[in-house]
This record gives sequence, structure tokens and C-alpha cells, in this order.
Amino acid sequence: MRLPYLLLDVDGVLIPFPDADGTTPSTHARHDVVPTGRSADNPVAVWLDADHGRLLMDVVRSGLVTPVWCTSWRQDATTIIGPLLGLPPLPYVDLPRPQITTSHPGGYLWKRDHVDSWLGDVPAVWIDDDFTSLDHTWAAERTTRGMATLLVQPDPHIGLQAEHLAEARAWMERLPVRTGAPAAASGTEGA
Ligand SMILES: [Mg+2]
Repeated sequence: MRLPYLLLDVDGVLIPFPDADGTTPSTHARHDVVPTGRSADNPVAVWLDADHGRLLMDVVRSGLVTPVWCTSWRQDATTIIGPLLGLPPLPYVDLPRPQITTSHPGGYLWKRDHVDSWLGDVPAVWIDDDFTSLDHTWAAERTTRGMATLLVQPDPHIGLQAEHLAEARAWMERLPVRTGAPAAASGTEGA
């Protein structure tokens, strides 16, 4: 059986955006990290919720889905963010680096065209804070064409909540078992 993918964003999902007064949720702890290409004496502060690690490990262990990072952190999600949450090295979508000034060139999420071809015909639940109505239309059309697609959209100032993963889990459990497809998650880039 070819497992569906669970695509997971980082900024606005695991790392909430600060409120207008600069505060972040009290559930989140600060970590200073050094992304690829940045000098060690110039770290970036990120805020993460250890509970997210526990919740995501339940997803990893479920065997119902293949979790994949889908974030502008790219490989750093695998090597930096995941380990801070106690997650094993998960694969990542090697997103392009378009020269854009908005996350919605064309009116929809900049990641989507790459993700659409990356997914092929595999069902997917995609958790991201930045979808537009055009992305929801895309998901509905993909589902109509037989590739079940669920978009889950946390509030970027609050981030991922348990109910988002419960919604994803319920969706996974409703999917019909797919047979006759390769067992390997081919096309996965990264680790
Ligand atoms: Mg985001």
C-alpha cells in the first residue's frame, strides 16, 4: 500500500508568529539555531512547543502516513527543527527558491506548483498556515480526480493544535486502502 503523505510546514505552524506586542505562546520555548549558510555567531531564535514532538510522534508511529517537511527551512527542518522536537530524521520536499516578494504569487501558495508535481497521484494531508482560497479549490479538484487531499490551516499566531492532527488522523483513517501501487515512497527528496 502506498501511504499518503503528511506535508508539514514550520513557520506559522510549529513556530508561531509573534503577536503585535512581540509575545509568543507560553507553551513555546526559545531555541537559538544556526540555519544552513548562516554563521555560527549569528543564530536565529525560534520558539517550539515540546508537546508538538509528542503529538507528531503519534503520527509517525501510526503507520498511516508518510510525514514529510514542506517548509522554507528545507533540509534544516530535518536536521535542526525535528531533532529539537525529538523527531527522527524525516524527509523533506526540496522546495525551489523563487525570487518572490509575496507568498502568494499568482494568488496561491508559492509552494503549491512544486508540491503538486512532487506528490504525483498520491493522497496528501498538508498542514500550512498560508493557503488561499485557490489552494482550497486545488485540493477539492485533486480530491475529485481521485487523489484525496486535505488542507489543514492553523492560525499562524497560535500554530498547530492537537485538533489539527486529530482532523488529519481522522482523514487518514477514512482513506480507502490503496493496493497495487509500489510500497516505496518514491520521489522523496532529502534525508
Ligand atoms: Mg508557514
